[in-house]
Amino acid sequence: MTLPAELPQRISHYIDGEHVDSISGDTFDVLDPVSNKPYATAAAGHAADIDRAVAAAREAFTDGAWPRMKARERARVLYRVADAVEAAEDRLAELESFDTGLPITQAKGQARRAAENFRFFADLIVAMNEDAYSVPGTQLNYVLRKPVGVAGLITPWNTPFMLESWKLAPALAAGCPVVLKPAEFTPASASLWAGIFEAAGLPRGVFNLVNGIGEQAGQALVEHPDVPLISFTGETTTGQTIMRSAAAHLKELSMELGGKSPAIVFADADLDAAIDSTLFGVFSLNGERCTAGSRILVQRAIYEEFCGRYAERASDIVVGPPHDPATEVGALVHPEHYERVLGYVEAGKREARLLAGGGRPHHLPEGNYLAPTVFADVAPDATIFQQEIFGPVAALTPFDTDDEAIALANDVKYGLAGYVWTNDLHRGHRVAGSIEAGMVWLNSHNIRDLRTPFGGVKASGVGHEGGHRSIDFYTNEHIVHVALGDVHTPRFGAGKEERR
Ligand code: NAD
Repeated sequence: MTLPAELPQRISHYIDGEHVDSISGDTFDVLDPVSNKPYATAAAGHAADIDRAVAAAREAFTDGAWPRMKARERARVLYRVADAVEAAEDRLAELESFDTGLPITQAKGQARRAAENFRFFADLIVAMNEDAYSVPGTQLNYVLRKPVGVAGLITPWNTPFMLESWKLAPALAAGCPVVLKPAEFTPASASLWAGIFEAAGLPRGVFNLVNGIGEQAGQALVEHPDVPLISFTGETTTGQTIMRSAAAHLKELSMELGGKSPAIVFADADLDAAIDSTLFGVFSLNGERCTAGSRILVQRAIYEEFCGRYAERASDIVVGPPHDPATEVGALVHPEHYERVLGYVEAGKREARLLAGGGRPHHLPEGNYLAPTVFADVAPDATIFQQEIFGPVAALTPFDTDDEAIALANDVKYGLAGYVWTNDLHRGHRVAGSIEAGMVWLNSHNIRDLRTPFGGVKASGVGHEGGHRSIDFYTNEHIVHVALGDVHTPRFGAGKEERR
């Protein structure tokens, strides 16, 4: 196996500008998904480490320059961060691919997206204006936008660095110091942030990172009274736990949770494009993609042809070592997750017709590899129709009418994304608007426009980020009302005086 250059063997916290171990000295092992052997130990944070990190961030908030800086000045730092992320693309992609099992070509794309997030939010804060409301001659009301305070950022292991950037960029742009708690399966790439921020000139204490187990470090961050907001991306059940804990402190929450998104393919669609796109939608990023179109609903007239062509292409997908540029599907992140995905594959074999994959590829006897797996005739009450698998597994289901397609699309607890394939203009818009999801793509896979709302409905999330919504989340609007003339005020207690 090829090891990335400068692979960290000890991964520490980063608090108040220093790389530090846990106060308790506790660590946890970090495995790579190809050998499933530990390659590093990471500091395991507890409440005491979170206290230290929050205290540093709190001081940066109450006394530091960052929240008070002009937007343009903050933007200059964020541009330097973006340039540094891009300059580190190769190293970052190697680390990310080694730690997560993502194919190296797809890991490189994540670095570019991370850099773009910093540029986008830097541009946005410089261009943003605050609202003023005029009641001519009477009142002028203007808004002051202020960073909320220390932001707690909790992130998952799929595309870790990019998802961290998706929270770090708007939080920092808005002026909030942060405490980041990255996923414990994949802490390697997050260890690059400290150097990037230092070199870019981010003031000390503004960026803090505590590694650790979710129920320990993550929970302590959620419960910390000096952290008024939490941005979380992860599983729906974890999100529910976090919401319960956060309720005690009435924290603001942004919750990006799981998905089981439908891709609806009508008989009038461009079939070649739909096949390319629905394959990419579920098998890119090893299928470990929150917006994966993992339920493919296909109109009956083309169903058998679609199943045959889809399964043939899926069988030809190159599964291999993450560092190999030819690899299209790499190794799943961790043996625990691999076992869980295999459990769904076994359930699928009982519930539906297996068309491709179904287990470990013969040429890869070790590591968390799964051949791209396709099931057909998946009934709406099947486990593999209802539950998020988060691996390279597609479920194909036939439908007859538009209404049936919409009903099937909406027949799950999730509502993150949806994809519609048709060349009929009316049908396309009608169906796209009827899917219960935060985001729908018509004749496309998941291509983001950073200005648009991002988030899910139902069990897929609470609150939307994206564009100005992210800045809204990390800032409070403070309204000042100014009287422009005499104000009529009922004169309480002045009755005696007036009767005289
Ligand atoms: P997870 O919920 O297990 O963990 C996410 C993070 O939460 C980790 O850092 C973990 O340590 C932490 N955590 C766990 N328990 C916690 C607790 N009690 N208190 C505080 N923090 C805690 O999720 P995962 O397995 O890392 O990620 C996969 C999931 O993330 C999938 O469900 C996927 O759909 C979802 N996801 C959603 C989006 C989105 O934008 N909607 C994006 C990516 C991933």
